[in-house]
Amino acid sequence: MAPHGPYQTGLYSRKDDIYDESRLTLMSDLREALHHNQTELYYQPKISLATGKVVGVEALIRWHHPDRGWVPPIEFVPMAEKTGVIKHLTRWVVDQALNDLKELHALDPALTVSVNISARDLSSPELVGLFETRTKRNQLNPEQVIIELTETAAMDDPHRGLSALNELTAIGLKLSIDDFGAGYSSLSYLKKLPASEIKLDRALLQDIESSEGARMIVETAIRMGQGLGYQVVAEGVETEKSARLLNQLGAEMLQGYWICSPKPLHELQAWLEVERKA
Ligand code: C2E
Ligand code: CA
Ligand code: CA
Ligand code: CA
Repeated sequence: MAPHGPYQTGLYSRKDDIYDESRLTLMSDLREALHHNQTELYYQPKISLATGKVVGVEALIRWHHPDRGWVPPIEFVPMAEKTGVIKHLTRWVVDQALNDLKELHALDPALTVSVNISARDLSSPELVGLFETRTKRNQLNPEQVIIELTETAAMDDPHRGLSALNELTAIGLKLSIDDFGAGYSSLSYLKKLPASEIKLDRALLQDIESSEGARMIVETAIRMGQGLGYQVVAEGVETEKSARLLNQLGAEMLQGYWICSPKPLHELQAWLEVERKA
């Protein structure tokens, strides 16, 4: 009578097993791809509502697998975290993103780049040195490099996490709390993080066009974030109506398909050129 599916035997679930052969293959393929530059960074602009101008871009990894086609980051990033491959992924992303920022500065020297890192990166003794050397190599102002970390990742190992984040901000980098409002983080802990920005999770913004209650929640989150001294970014903005509402509710910055979808560097450069002339 036990309703076990074909891949389940008691508590052991094949589906969740990170040592599943196909997943291990995927991870060794990912390491190869990173090594041979078969991964790519796409960039999505973030705009200031006060000026309507692009203030920075977020780097988002893309992987086109030779047999499987596009593999979405939500499929391989968590797996890379579990297996430790994230260390290689993050190194590749930081390398590429900081080189690319140097190029983007030809168009606008004030642009920032945001890089996503994971909980596991925070326990790597190489992380601070990685950002430090790549920033110097490209002669970038570290204040133009923003590290995005989800609140749950920051909470993973609060003590170690906090000291790593303090080291990163001590060398001038900025910290952004990603997916804000999506988890159950303790506000008293969040307050201790050396962050300068929060990104409201897309889920929070979902119903703001139709629900007064949803708008109240977003407005409260924005006020609270600003009260704690953070700049507030609303992400995943898909419509003009949402953008207008978020402006009224007090958000400082917006990101989302309504403004621009993530694009390869050269397409983003073309988009920025058009924007600049507009
Ligand atoms: P995230 O950091 O919260 O990134 C935002 C996600 O929302 C991205 O998905 C982006 O393409 C998508 N997005 C942007 N605008 C809109 C919109 O208007 N509507 C909707 N529905 N979605 C929008 P993506 O690129 O698939 O990345 C998913 C997640 O994978 C990211 O969430 C991040 O947690 C992770 N990720 C992506 N790139 C990296 C990376 O280089 N390193 C690490 N550690 N994680 C990454
Ligand atoms: Ca992010
Ligand atoms: Ca996010
Ligand atoms: Ca996310």
